Amino acid sequence: MARTIIQRVAASACVGFLFSAVSTAVLADHAWATYHWARTSNPFTLKLGNNMTTTSWVEHLNTTVQDWNSGGTPLMTSVVDGTAGKRCKMVAGTTQVCNGKYGNNGWLGLASINITGGTHITQGSAKMNDTYFGTATYNNPNEKLHVVCQEVAHTFGLGHTSEDGSSQNTCMDYFSNTGSNAGSTLSTKPNTHDFYQLNVIYGHLDSTSTVAQIAEEVAAMGHGPSAVGRDISDDPNSWGQLVRQSANGRSSTYERENADGSRNITHVFWTNEAAARCPACDHRHDR
Ligand SMILES: [Zn+2]
Ligand SMILES: [Zn+2]
Repeated sequence: MARTIIQRVAASACVGFLFSAVSTAVLADHAWATYHWARTSNPFTLKLGNNMTTTSWVEHLNTTVQDWNSGGTPLMTSVVDGTAGKRCKMVAGTTQVCNGKYGNNGWLGLASINITGGTHITQGSAKMNDTYFGTATYNNPNEKLHVVCQEVAHTFGLGHTSEDGSSQNTCMDYFSNTGSNAGSTLSTKPNTHDFYQLNVIYGHLDSTSTVAQIAEEVAAMGHGPSAVGRDISDDPNSWGQLVRQSANGRSSTYERENADGSRNITHVFWTNEAAARCPACDHRHDR
């Protein structure tokens, strides 16, 4: 399945992007296919809409922004006021970051992006589910930072470094900072390999930009017709088809084709419990 996605993406043109043997090998590593924000100059700043409702989530968001900005990559982020609410309605040119009690739906974290032309990210959202983060198992700073760090970075175009539960000491792995590891700060931040990967992903320039530059532009893009039909709702069926799942069932990727030719890709970070119930099941349906 993963190979099918990469082949499809590879077939689409992207100005200045050279598919060498090296970049293909890196793709197989942990870029999220070739998804990236289009921009005409580097470095660039991606606005993260802050829709967090608690002090601790705001702190974790600010921490991960500092961490991701410290790597010397072309992708910089800045936190701006969010208008997305708990539903985390996407705003074109930005990533909206949200927390809330999204219910006993099995997922801890959810990241969605909209893609045009097979590669270019136009908008993203990252949600953290307090229905689980409010429980003793998940309510600790390390687990929360791990998940927000990962979900936000999916909207940069990064995938996972591993999904088997081992730690590569990056938030892009599936180490669980719970139970006996609740006090561990392993895997709560990006590592040098993540920064290397971002340098590869953003090593070229595009002829157009999908990144909102100024607040007025964010507002115009967010409420203009371009945003319509390119969002996902709170209904898991709006994620589209399950296209990939890790063997342990903790990580799933869904895709949806939209009427305007764009695609939504959703990455789901399932709870330990949802994954363990039936690792091979589509967890939307196995409760
Ligand atoms: Zn590009
Ligand atoms: Zn993930």
